[in-house]
Amino acid sequence: MRRKRPRTRTGGPTAGSQDPALAGEVLRQGLRRLGLEPTPAQLEGFAVYLSELLRWGARINLTGFTTEAQIVREGFLRSMSYRVAFDPAPGMRAVDIGSGAGFPGLVLKICYPEIDMLLVEASRRRASFLRSLVRQLGLPGVRCLHGRAEQLHGEVEHRARYQVAFARAVGAPPEVVALAEPLLAPGGRLVIQVGRRRATSFSEDRRTLIESGLTVGTCVTQAVDPGMQPTELLVIEKPHGGHSLELTSPTRELSGRL
Ligand code: SAM
Repeated sequence: MRRKRPRTRTGGPTAGSQDPALAGEVLRQGLRRLGLEPTPAQLEGFAVYLSELLRWGARINLTGFTTEAQIVREGFLRSMSYRVAFDPAPGMRAVDIGSGAGFPGLVLKICYPEIDMLLVEASRRRASFLRSLVRQLGLPGVRCLHGRAEQLHGEVEHRARYQVAFARAVGAPPEVVALAEPLLAPGGRLVIQVGRRRATSFSEDRRTLIESGLTVGTCVTQAVDPGMQPTELLVIEKPHGGHSLELTSPTRELSGRL
């Protein structure tokens, strides 16, 4: 990851004692711990991603991360932790709601190019960043829509069309479920990262979702870098056939590998 360091006007993430080579090594090792041997093209994709985050981040608030290592750990590797909660397959339709700077959707797309990925982002500036980056990466099968996820609920192209939905830091789980559930195909899965600050209200949210007739599971993935905490994911499945939000639906919890 040896790219020209962009100039910064704000003293944001490009300032100070950053080390792109170290960030590249943290990424490579983290991906290996996740069982991925990244191709040169994927590593180049991440190098472009990091460089563009730093360049745009000097002008607009994209991520809140202040160092390259933070971007790699909390942006790239944390996003990759979502992998334990779904099985990528060719042609799988996935949507990332409130993608921000592309976490986790664009990161997953770089590692699993066979997924058809839609990034939905309400902020115009972040959506512009995503569109520009997607063009530079030259990846087929990824689109960015500027708008709110709820605007897609009534559209035939999007309603009940996705096998998997992702969200991170977009809202409390019940709010995110309301945004994602209409977009999920029957049997589709929503994967949400549970923030540490939400830990206390988490069990209550989980109970509410189960009482609403959804299938809910959790999984905690191991930290993929010594500088990281484990990642806790909430996995919500939409039942096959019928409406998932009826209060009378039977409830169960996911088990097995989650
Ligand atoms: N998921 C990214 C991450 O983990 O870094 C971004 C998190 S940021 C805190 C939340 C993002 O969700 C913002 O960029 C915001 O514009 C977007 N957002 C919030 N509500 C949304 C909605 N209903 N539809 C689409 N985007 C939404």
